[in-house]
Amino acid sequence: MQAISVRQPWAFAIARGHKRISNQNLPTAYRGTLLIHASMRVDLDSCDSPLIRTAGWDVRDPLATIGAAIAVAELADVCSAAVRDEECGCGPWADRDAHHWRLADIRALPRPIVSLGRLGLWQPLPSLVTEVTAMLSAERAAPRLGDGPPAR
Ligand SMILES: [Zn+2]
Repeated sequence: MQAISVRQPWAFAIARGHKRISNQNLPTAYRGTLLIHASMRVDLDSCDSPLIRTAGWDVRDPLATIGAAIAVAELADVCSAAVRDEECGCGPWADRDAHHWRLADIRALPRPIVSLGRLGLWQPLPSLVTEVTAMLSAERAAPRLGDGPPAR
């Protein structure tokens, strides 16, 4: 498992499943599970942007926290068309001058895990990976609200 630190409110938009592109300065060959960490710095100018509003940005939401791991995703692909000045289909969340890290299978953590972040792609401490994995498997095992009896 690798991790990226993302400023709020963008980390929230990822964790809530709206933003499936992470704009990065560099490409990566890494594919696999990516921990989404909300960094301590907040992009205050973006909190009122239309995109963030459509994501339902709410400072009272636990996923709006800072300095914590808040979600897990799969890094499925990296699109570098924009840095070559080419068109791509990455949608409204993709910046013009960035590599588009395409995220799939985004799962918000049931509660944030306070941790330090770093720049770029970073390796989470084993204790953090263990905590995230335990949280997600406990959630899978628990019955979900609205689940009816098994289909016959
Ligand atoms: Zn793209």
